[in-house]
Amino acid sequence: MVKQRKVSCPLCGGQLLYCVKADSNLARKINKDGNLSKVIHPGARHITDTYYLECDTYRCGFLYNLSYPETNKTDYTELDNWYEEFGEDFI
Ligand SMILES: [Zn+2]
Repeated sequence: MVKQRKVSCPLCGGQLLYCVKADSNLARKINKDGNLSKVIHPGARHITDTYYLECDTYRCGFLYNLSYPETNKTDYTELDNWYEEFGEDFI
């Protein structure tokens, strides 16, 4: 049986995105004439342990921290339950 659990943004009902914070450096080489080259992405991204849900609706701004729920202003048990059941690592 395929597991199902519908979750949506508790503020606007919109679609939620499952996200992880990642650190990534951007760099630009400086050419001999002093001008900057195009942006390059050196090295691999460092994926952090902070997973969160973000509303995909423009200007809604809903964010819910799954990894550190104590930082949320409001608890949403249905979102915590979803994460427990469906949360996965990105890599
Ligand atoms: Zn929303």
